[in-house]
Amino acid sequence: THTLHIVGGGMAGSEAAWQAANLGIQVVLHEMRPKVETFAHRTGDLGEMVCSNSFRSDDHEQNAVGLLHWEMREAGGLIMDTAYTHRLPAGGALAVDRDAFSAAVTAKIAAHPNISVSHEEITELPSEGHWIFATGPLTSEALGAAIQAETGADRLAFFDAIAPIVYAETINMDVAWLQSRYDKGETEEEQKAYINCPMTKDQYEAFIDALLAADKTEFHEGETAKYFDGCLPIEVMAERGRETLRHGPMKPVGLTNPHDPETKAYAVVQLRRDNALGTLFNIVGFQTKMKYGAQTSVFKTIPGLEDASFARLGGIHRNTFLNSPTLLDDQMRLRSKPNIRFAGQVTGVEGYVESASMGLVAGRLAAAEILGQPLASVPQDTAHGALIHHITGGAEAKTFQPMNVNFGLFRPLDGLKGGRRGRKDRYKAYTDRAKACWTDWLATQKELA
Ligand code: FAD
Repeated sequence: THTLHIVGGGMAGSEAAWQAANLGIQVVLHEMRPKVETFAHRTGDLGEMVCSNSFRSDDHEQNAVGLLHWEMREAGGLIMDTAYTHRLPAGGALAVDRDAFSAAVTAKIAAHPNISVSHEEITELPSEGHWIFATGPLTSEALGAAIQAETGADRLAFFDAIAPIVYAETINMDVAWLQSRYDKGETEEEQKAYINCPMTKDQYEAFIDALLAADKTEFHEGETAKYFDGCLPIEVMAERGRETLRHGPMKPVGLTNPHDPETKAYAVVQLRRDNALGTLFNIVGFQTKMKYGAQTSVFKTIPGLEDASFARLGGIHRNTFLNSPTLLDDQMRLRSKPNIRFAGQVTGVEGYVESASMGLVAGRLAAAEILGQPLASVPQDTAHGALIHHITGGAEAKTFQPMNVNFGLFRPLDGLKGGRRGRKDRYKAYTDRAKACWTDWLATQKELA
């Protein structure tokens, strides 16, 4: 049949339905609310914002999330158009009146001649028909179990444990150095896979004090706090004993500081490559529930990270997400069952905007496939493409954690210098390149509709 079934009427599912329906596809949107509730949603509306009312920066020349806004608007995106209509004053950010926003999304979907909404929970991954699963961070329990049965239990997580991610170019390599513990690895690249930041005893003690004193966020009401061995927040490790970190992720063994080979570091903070491009590094074992402001000030006390710039800060949340690098192809299809696509937060992106944008492309890709004119994959140099490329291939599968859009995911441009002024030019060049590629990609779909 030519019907597209979309499961979940949140940011991603609503956008996917809109895109496919506008390309002439008959869509059934299955949403379990209000019959089945989640701990975070309050209404039965589509596109409900579960927490903040902001779609973050709207600057499409200097900010990667603003660039996603721009690309979605060019594609006639439901979420962005509706957000603009219900915009509230918020400086450079795109904040909205949340109730008016989701009421309008609900009304537009209800009025679309090609979309019907079915209020039911879907608990299986069907083998027949065209499906997009956009069930979000709070995917229902029964469906989560069905997904695990298909993918294997270790490929669908129910909590994230996000360590902060640093732009590699902002790490001071006059202080830090490249080395894997005990120089482990076959190739030189593997023997130098980590960036190491050394601490003296005084620096370590001050760091522990700062961790213990920092402001922390609490789990949401209804979100049962569960920590798993191996991913305790660093501040919880520090609470268990001042030496715990020094015997855990910060142990100083198997490492020699080439800047000062005679002095043995008291503790070492390690950063591991986070993407194939080598532009992003995560701080190993530093998942945390410290507030964002506290994280920046505490992490900047680490020698070598004084001027670090963060692509994303750490966090731990209830979050259902796939190990997309091993499970999805670059058309967002489940490799083992290609009649099924995933979209939104469940694919391992993070945030309203990123989730909606994954819905936008999944809706278009599915519609084109149903029409018998499959689309080329989304170009990697667009914001959408950079994210898809990251989650379906560029990210390390073993340590995969949810990702926000950021310029570290973009392929570097030749001939542009670093530094503050240089960064402005570079971001402008990234966004110019992205806009041109996105416009071309959209143009290939004009005849579809
Ligand atoms: P959702 O918007 O959650 O949509 C998924 C939909 O699928 C829901 O409507 C759900 O009812 C439905 N569903 C689930 N299972 C089934 C099923 N089996 N059958 C049928 N329907 C089903 N991001 C931000 O940018 N800013 C924030 O402030 C923010 N705060 C968050 C707070 C919490 C508590 C959580 C959990 C997440 C938060 N996020 C935030 C992250 C994320 O961006 C949002 O959750 C976003 O809504 C994700 O979009 P989505 O479409 O993937 O999922």
